[in-house]
Amino acid sequence: MNDTFFIKKNCDRCNSEIKVRTMSWFTNETICIECSIAETEIKRRLPDNGKNYEGCGYLPKIEEVLS
Ligand SMILES: [Zn+2]
Repeated sequence: MNDTFFIKKNCDRCNSEIKVRTMSWFTNETICIECSIAETEIKRRLPDNGKNYEGCGYLPKIEEVLS
């Protein structure tokens, strides 16, 4: 967890106002709940629920992972 986690008011990914603050699974970004839900959907489709992708620094593209 980085120092700016509790200070940020906007999502690092979509820049909308953060109401529910979460950490990205894949990167060190602070993201909103909508982006978190999108990540959960990506994780769900990855092998082992994306376990091997924690903190990988990018959003895996499902099409590439599964091809
Ligand atoms: Zn967002």
